[in-house]
Amino acid sequence: MKKTSFFQIRQAVVAGFCLALILFASFSSALTTQSSSPILSEPYHYHTYQELTDELHSLQENYSSLMSLSSIGKTYEGRDLWMVKLSDNVNQTEDEPGVLFMAAHHGNEWPGVEICLFFIRYMVENYENNSLPQVRDAMNATQIYLIPMVNPDGVMADTRKNCAPNHGPFGHSSSITSYGVNLNRNYDDPWFLAYVFPLRYYLPIILPDSSFNYRGPYPFSENETKAVKNFAETHEFSLSISYHSYGEFIVYPWMHTTKQTPDESLFRSVGENISLINNYYLSVKKDRLIPLYGGTLGSSENWLYREKGALAYTVEVGEERRPTDPQVVHDLCMTQTTVHLYLCQRAQTIESEKAALHLS
Ligand SMILES: [Zn+2]
Repeated sequence: MKKTSFFQIRQAVVAGFCLALILFASFSSALTTQSSSPILSEPYHYHTYQELTDELHSLQENYSSLMSLSSIGKTYEGRDLWMVKLSDNVNQTEDEPGVLFMAAHHGNEWPGVEICLFFIRYMVENYENNSLPQVRDAMNATQIYLIPMVNPDGVMADTRKNCAPNHGPFGHSSSITSYGVNLNRNYDDPWFLAYVFPLRYYLPIILPDSSFNYRGPYPFSENETKAVKNFAETHEFSLSISYHSYGEFIVYPWMHTTKQTPDESLFRSVGENISLINNYYLSVKKDRLIPLYGGTLGSSENWLYREKGALAYTVEVGEERRPTDPQVVHDLCMTQTTVHLYLCQRAQTIESEKAALHLS
């Protein structure tokens, strides 16, 4: 049994590695072609919330058999939180593995929104393209979910946190003391550990609500994180990426400690293949970016892994928070599209790989 399990894992890893190479090679040639296209207008125009909303509706109307669009909640300022599903038979829940992509938990980190929107358009427009069979395969064999703008209020205000009023760090003040919660600290991770062992997790003993890392008065206190929670609890997916910017690196649970999860070898295997495609630095356990990531109790990645068993990655895209060169943004989008296609392929074996890992 042990031998079989190990062999299966090794086979899957090798297959994944080969696919990543093939995808990278095929998209590299596509990139070369794109680079010779007419110079794109400068500077790059990032989509506003309304532009994103309009474009998602338009794509959904044009490709209603491949794409569904729904609101999973509303922000404090009343904006819909859009969730896109891409798949064949998109209006049915099929017995196919799921993959989730999210962007803009932090409202001042915009490239991830463009990556998600680009990917959605790319998938629906190329479904019938015979020269890109991997698009059709991904659409036919997986259920792809995207929440392209988790924090639209923050995006429109160009701020890291959301825009809801705070009433003191524990919500007990009758007056408004500040605005905004860092949504990627508001998940129940378990959230309270930040207050029980602050020094162990490189956190200050008291985190004022005005802090850019303020985690909210209690876990899932915010509309946006509640919406993601409800979504996650009612949909199945085994791999996910949440986009941030910037730094060109990849991290995965546990986000708050150097301890490994029971799925470290799988996290690492998938992460190495992502890194092979986008050439980003994969932060593995021994060199964990603790000074940077030490305070991330309450992240979506930890919660998605703990609650769902999903292999959830943060990908910090780009060399700057908001590149303005259209070619740079386009290249980010194209490269991450290759990453998404790889994840759709790997999702088809990941649950059996996980089962084999835990049997061995
Ligand atoms: Zn971020």
